[in-house]
Amino acid sequence: MKRIALFPGSFDPFTKGHEDIVLRGLKLFDEIIIAIGYNSGKSVRYFEIQKMKQYIEQTFAGNPGVRVEIFAELTAEYARKNGARYLLRGLRNTTDFEYENSIAQVNRFLNEELESVFLITSPQFAAISSSIIREVHRYSGDVSDFLPYKL
Ligand code: ADP
Repeated sequence: MKRIALFPGSFDPFTKGHEDIVLRGLKLFDEIIIAIGYNSGKSVRYFEIQKMKQYIEQTFAGNPGVRVEIFAELTAEYARKNGARYLLRGLRNTTDFEYENSIAQVNRFLNEELESVFLITSPQFAAISSSIIREVHRYSGDVSDFLPYKL
């Protein structure tokens, strides 16, 4: 049976930190579905969602194990529909841990088959966050070093 993992996130924008999680995840899973979702706590996106999907597709163009989708439903339900038994997430610090811990508990409650798998960030990407990139970009700063594609 194929090991399919769902990597859900806002990806606003998708960063080199996210890319690193996917590349490392590919050593564990046969297929990774990168699913761009709407985080209700971050309701208004900065980067257009269809455009972000294209950038991510471009990033993994040579990688048949990666698929990019947009979704707007419960993550646990979306995973079930797509045959994904693993939820891939990244951890940078204790703040991430607190947040990830609670959503993993809820996702497990909603879908018993779903196992969350966490990869600790690689040190060179630990400081990269989508929110900081948005701030720098908003004031016309150069963010190209943090992104695996050209805006
Ligand atoms: P969400 O809005 O669902 O938190 P994000 O796009 O912010 O989505 O992040 C998706 C996942 O990637 C989360 O698990 C987050 O902790 C992780 N992540 C974000 N940045 C990094 C990074 N630099 N290194 C490792 N993991 C990261």
